Amino acid sequence: MVRWIHTHKLAGRNFWNIDTQPNSSWSWRKILDVRELVKGRFIHIVNNGEFTSMWYDIWCDFGPLADLVSTRMIYHEGSDPSFSIKDMVLANYLNWPSSWLSRFPQLAMISAPVLSLAPDVIKWRDIDGNLQDFLVHLVWETIRSKSTQVPWASDVWFSNNIPKHHFVMWLLMGEKLKTQDKLKHWKVSENQVLLCSLCEQVSESHDHLFFNCPFSLQVWNHVKNHMEFPIFSNSWKDFTLLVSPFAKRRIARNIMVKLLYAATVYSVWQERNNRLFKKKKRSVDQVYKDIYATVRLKLMTINWKKTPQTLRLKSDWKIS
Ligand SMILES: [Zn+2]
Repeated sequence: MVRWIHTHKLAGRNFWNIDTQPNSSWSWRKILDVRELVKGRFIHIVNNGEFTSMWYDIWCDFGPLADLVSTRMIYHEGSDPSFSIKDMVLANYLNWPSSWLSRFPQLAMISAPVLSLAPDVIKWRDIDGNLQDFLVHLVWETIRSKSTQVPWASDVWFSNNIPKHHFVMWLLMGEKLKTQDKLKHWKVSENQVLLCSLCEQVSESHDHLFFNCPFSLQVWNHVKNHMEFPIFSNSWKDFTLLVSPFAKRRIARNIMVKLLYAATVYSVWQERNNRLFKKKKRSVDQVYKDIYATVRLKLMTINWKKTPQTLRLKSDWKIS
């Protein structure tokens, strides 16, 4: 335990001071970039003082004391940068040297923590400056970049969604899928024609791949048979408008239609990727059967209220 705490203290200090090397990996650089966003938000509530670094953690109103007192000054007065609060209190180091007090008068305002047997606690300072228990969703709310909610957000995300399907659907609605027309700026040779991998006839774009490709259209034709009022569009912009009415009311038919839309979009994108990168092909029928089986399985897991509408839906999908 002691060894772990010691490692933690050193790791914490090194984490803040580590340099981003030009050859370090992309993910490691991204992790290090988060430092500036979370710096100052971890607040230590001192109890037994073992888990809190005297110099590098925030446990008083003046932030990490290492921001005031240099490492050289710490060593000069016989202290040690690796000391915990407990080390410092037991060694009576909170009787600040007079040379420090004249230089940093705020040190005199720090009262020595009264140690207890309970472990120290780390709190998170949220976006409003309040201290909260450290919860991942609070941290995410604080550090994520925010923009205006798109009008179709609730069209895509709902409680019964299939996350991987709806993630692709989300990208499609925002026209963010990396179709080949978007990769033209990657300097593909002039002679290299970026054909749709499903029909191999025309160049690939969002509109073509999902709404105009003969392969996708055949898949949609199968899928539409499950919709009471089969409507369709031939562009992703119209598609966003088309999906919208189904988001308004949480009724069985709307949930089923949204699941079908997302499963179809996901399956077309999956088929495109399999053909492009794995050289694997499925027929239109196979793709449709996979969509049907996945949506039916999902519908079976939903705890429907017993209404004429849900009974009809169950009967249509052969759900007992
Ligand atoms: Zn095509």
